[in-house]
Amino acid sequence: MDATTARAWIVRVAELIHANEQRLTDLDATIGDGDHGANMQRGVAAAVASLEEQEPEDAGKVLNSTGRELISKTGGASGPLYGTGFRRAGKELGDEVDVQAVARALEAMLRSIEELGGATQEEKTIVDALAPAVAAFQETSGQGGDLHAAASAAAEAAERGAAATIPLQARKGRASYLGERSIGHEDPGAASTALIIRALADVTAP
Ligand code: ADP
Ligand code: MG
Ligand code: MG
Repeated sequence: MDATTARAWIVRVAELIHANEQRLTDLDATIGDGDHGANMQRGVAAAVASLEEQEPEDAGKVLNSTGRELISKTGGASGPLYGTGFRRAGKELGDEVDVQAVARALEAMLRSIEELGGATQEEKTIVDALAPAVAAFQETSGQGGDLHAAASAAAEAAERGAAATIPLQARKGRASYLGERSIGHEDPGAASTALIIRALADVTAP
């Protein structure tokens, strides 16, 4: 992934978050405090604005800058998690461009979010969309798939993972305060993760 593709990814993330802001807010109003759409919108808008000001010369620096903005502007539980995830992905990627390096970067994103948030799969969080996405990305790229093929497989896996949070009871984050009442609703963070991965598939389409 080169700097141009990484920038296009973040711009597309902002578009998809903007288009889905109300849906994310509604999901979070149901099992949280109703700010996830606004939080994400604020964070990704700042990330895009910052990329317009500076021109990072490689994809790693684009992701690092994005992470920095997400940490300082998103707020909520999701801001530090996504922000740290993008920073660690950027650090892992550096100036590498091949699909295997992107696979390692996405894995670093997942590991850092797991470390910081302490969540494992099936606790109704970001991890439920990101973990299957990373696995699908690795599998497809490992079989010789290019960036678009790997990102498309990852996006489908993330969307399935987000949908699969519906029957789960939340064990981490604000939604866990609801106990069994969190069952029956999609997790907003898993939904936004699916948008982030879908954005990568979109911008790498031939
Ligand atoms: P807040 O809950 O502080 O208002 P947001 O609404 O922006 O923050 O984000 C909520 C989302 O953050 C949840 O839907 C969940 O996916 C994610 N989340 C919360 N805690 C964790 C955690 N410990 N690990 C992973 N994801 C988490
Ligand atoms: Mg919230
Ligand atoms: Mg909040």
